[in-house]
Amino acid sequence: MEEQLIQHLKDLVSINSVNPDLSKLGQGEKQIAEFIHNHFTKLNIESKVHIIKDDRCNTTAFLKGNNPEKILLLNGHLDTVGIEDMKDPFILKNDGDHLYGRGTYDMLAGCAIQMALATFFSKTPCPISLAFTFVADEENMSMGMEHLIKHYLPTLPSKPFLGIFMEPTEEAIGISHKGYSWYELKIEGLAAHGSRPEQGINAIFPMEHALSELSKINKELLDEEPHPHLGHATLHPGMISGGTAKSVIASESNIKWERRTLPGESKQKLDDELQRVISAVLKAPGNHKVTGSQVYNRPPNEVKNHSTIETLRKVAGNKDYNGMSYWADSALATMAGIPSILFGPAGHGAHAIDEWVSKESMLNCYKTMKKFILEL
Ligand SMILES: [Zn+2]
Repeated sequence: MEEQLIQHLKDLVSINSVNPDLSKLGQGEKQIAEFIHNHFTKLNIESKVHIIKDDRCNTTAFLKGNNPEKILLLNGHLDTVGIEDMKDPFILKNDGDHLYGRGTYDMLAGCAIQMALATFFSKTPCPISLAFTFVADEENMSMGMEHLIKHYLPTLPSKPFLGIFMEPTEEAIGISHKGYSWYELKIEGLAAHGSRPEQGINAIFPMEHALSELSKINKELLDEEPHPHLGHATLHPGMISGGTAKSVIASESNIKWERRTLPGESKQKLDDELQRVISAVLKAPGNHKVTGSQVYNRPPNEVKNHSTIETLRKVAGNKDYNGMSYWADSALATMAGIPSILFGPAGHGAHAIDEWVSKESMLNCYKTMKKFILEL
């Protein structure tokens, strides 16, 4: 099995599945989706490629078990981040326990595990049904997961009782992860000659009040009681811009920030923070205008008190429950009524140029998943 699993990973890595909305070297998920579809078809497992738009695709496959109505959702994302500055990103390189290549860790190894599980359960009776799902665009806007929730999950014989998203968790049982919200604030003034500031309205000076309020809120978040697995909520300004020339009184400035959110934080709390920043800038000296809004939001995820997850934890060798700092599609599945967790191999370098997954850990995850499914 080790060889087959590595071969699956090698095949998946060899196909460019860079997200085209993140890098101009990306070609979308069509080719990798079709490759996976062929694997299931060869195993005589009912499978389909779903075209979302152009070359953006999902693949699904349904294996009917002894109890067809009891369905476990398995999920992986097909897209990877860019390959800029990487040498041979699409060639799997083996160095001891490390398997290098773009997407090995995040998360083609998880997809390879699904493929290997399908091979095993195509020959061995499976106590429950398995919905294998591979989605596009997790690294950007989750159009794949949204499509899956809208168009595929409702076609299943029943709602899956649990979702396992095989993102890298170092073999911990990822029962929670943070969410995030993006904000933009614009300050408008009036341009004037740099030598005649009295004729303009400077849109950059008031920005310091936005920064200082954001910094204050961030400090307050760090003073709050930490989440047992996720620690503190945070925020950071990610982008700042303004002005047109050194000799011109700037007529506009912009700041964009990201807020990483914890399960249980209310919308009201986030709205209040935004209002605080707007008010701080409004109170700054000058006749500038201020507008600000939340432009994007992805919810946090947390699954509690689920006996099947406890079974997985035991089968995995009494691994810890943990929370992941990063966001994942699992939040959308939980919101759609399928409690979803993260479980996947150890490795290093997600989104970095030296990405690798541990061969041994990938095999462990495969064995754990197989044993877990057989116990259900
Ligand atoms: Zn991922």
